[in-house]
Amino acid sequence: MNATTDITVIGGGPTGLFAAFYAGMRGASCRIIDALPALGGQLMALYPEKYIYDVAGFPRVLAKDLVAGLQEQALQFGAEPRLGETVTGLRKETVDGAEVFVLETDGGSYPTRTIVIAAGIGAFEPRKLPLDEAVEWEGKGVHYNVVDPKAFAGKKVLLVGGGDSAFDWALGLQGVASSVSLIHRRDGFRAHQATIDQVMRLQEQGKCSVRTFAEVKGIEGAGKVERAILEDAKTKERWTLEVDAIIPLLGFVSDLGAINAWGLSQEKEDIVVDRVMETNVPGIYAAGDVCTYAGKLKLIATGVGEAAIAVNNAVHRIDPKRKVNPGHSSDLKIFEK
Ligand code: FAD
Repeated sequence: MNATTDITVIGGGPTGLFAAFYAGMRGASCRIIDALPALGGQLMALYPEKYIYDVAGFPRVLAKDLVAGLQEQALQFGAEPRLGETVTGLRKETVDGAEVFVLETDGGSYPTRTIVIAAGIGAFEPRKLPLDEAVEWEGKGVHYNVVDPKAFAGKKVLLVGGGDSAFDWALGLQGVASSVSLIHRRDGFRAHQATIDQVMRLQEQGKCSVRTFAEVKGIEGAGKVERAILEDAKTKERWTLEVDAIIPLLGFVSDLGAINAWGLSQEKEDIVVDRVMETNVPGIYAAGDVCTYAGKLKLIATGVGEAAIAVNNAVHRIDPKRKVNPGHSSDLKIFEK
């Protein structure tokens, strides 16, 4: 079995990374477990090249650059990342005379005095195109996210979806892709109105095509995507669109998996926390997108604040002589080293 840590953070997204930083700043040993092969959560997995405008101190910052900063800050005190490991179980055990939690993953057993669940939307994957043959085209022109827009340079791109991701990329691929088309199966969009307006203006200028009540009903090509067979959802009329890439951006299916079986109070998939971010199981805290309370906002800005509250209370729980209030980092000797 691995060494017992004070805090184990489940999830290496922005919330989990800031939790690890705070743990280190408070002198608590910490491990971060994440199912993905890299730290950064949704920011690295889903939108590394997008700008974020609403984190404190950055008028705008690329998601991947924010993660680089969060990672440097998080790991400076020696937090141990265990990447590519999914949490599968939890039990209590007596280790060295003290009762601790033991987190099981598909890669090992990790004893820990407290847990901060920062699992976001769970171990997640994009919702797939509702077309049986689509799976055969994955990697051959069907892509479920845009990691690097340059991968679509000079290509005829078909975006599928009516949410922020589809509309953001209708803008983001301008000047990169040779043509950008967007289809959605309904005529109502979930994207921000300002982005929809921008895309509609591009359509008026002939730089983008948007078609509602349209669905992908077939994919053709010789070893790679060359054509999409589209269908009007109302008239059932079909037509062919020449494309090099189909990018369905239909949201995500996420699953907290084993965490759902730990007896934590939940509202839908979200874990209910009290005002110190503790769940109904003493010693298990939750922060970030995974948690809920009255007034909860699922944003990076709120997630990192919740991480600070959770960790400072975990530190106090482990050693009641230690105050919850961390003091000001600008006064701390730990940063003078
Ligand atoms: P996540 O980032 O979801 O990280 C959770 C991590 O936990 C993941 O890495 C996952 O692999 C891991 N995990 C989950 N379950 C397990 C398990 N069982 N075992 C091991 N690991 C597990 N927010 C903003 O504030 N501003 C924006 O401009 C903004 N833009 C966005 C744009 C897009 C396209 C999207 C999709 C989201 C955007 N968000 C934005 C939302 C923001 O990304 C989330 O609020 C944020 O990522 C939540 O961080 P988190 O650390 O709580 O969770």
